[in-house]
Amino acid sequence: MEKEKCRCGAVVLAAGSGKRMHSGIKKQFLLIQDKPVIYYSLQAFQQSFIDEIVLVVSEEDRDYCKKNIVDQYGFSKVKYIEAGGKERYHSVAVGLACLTDCDYIFIHDGARPMITEEILERAYECAKENDACVVGMPVKDTIKIADKNGFIHQTPDRNLVWMIQTPQVFESTLIKEAYSRLLAQEEDLNEQGIHITDDAMVVETLMKHPVKLVEGSYENIKITTPEDLLIAENFKSKIYE
Ligand code: C5P
Repeated sequence: MEKEKCRCGAVVLAAGSGKRMHSGIKKQFLLIQDKPVIYYSLQAFQQSFIDEIVLVVSEEDRDYCKKNIVDQYGFSKVKYIEAGGKERYHSVAVGLACLTDCDYIFIHDGARPMITEEILERAYECAKENDACVVGMPVKDTIKIADKNGFIHQTPDRNLVWMIQTPQVFESTLIKEAYSRLLAQEEDLNEQGIHITDDAMVVETLMKHPVKLVEGSYENIKITTPEDLLIAENFKSKIYE
């Protein structure tokens, strides 16, 4: 008998304030090739095998996003537009709560417009095999771990160091349990100086579950500072040529 297709949901995050961009406009709404940064992630998910999307934005941007992005570009898979929280992980938790009927959940930074269907497929295959997988790329530079005084403390073996990207993809019960433990232990973790910066870390720390790395692409950058926008503009213009 043919195996039933798994149901896949995506949480697309765009509730950050983007302070490092030093722009009056939040980075997710800046334009690349005449379209807002967030358009490209939503378009990639909309055109893929993903079944439903939760878009997480700041409370004050909800109406704007519904009218000027979701309705404007016909993103019919966006079933929820929710208000995010203070930290990235608060925004993820809001998104996860909406996805009640999914087997696998893709968590993606809306500030990564270079995501492609090929990367989504690769991450999905990897998640089906390992229950937890994150997209990344091996580093090209030598990486140093510094001490608090700015001296080199360690030089990790470059062959084992990866830059982590999104999407990060998980079997649904695993990621939901991980986030429910995180929210219950948030204060303890803060006191221990553990700062949660991605979803893999939640699964590693709270579930002690292995997380597999899968290749994304060197183009799958996160728009953080103004030069990133120029790089993305350049990549996109190559695609549209
Ligand atoms: O701050 P950083 O660049 O790591 O944010 C990664 C992604 O998470 C961005 O797409 C940002 O909009 C989102 N985010 C969020 N809620 C927050 C902080 C960040 O949705 N509180």
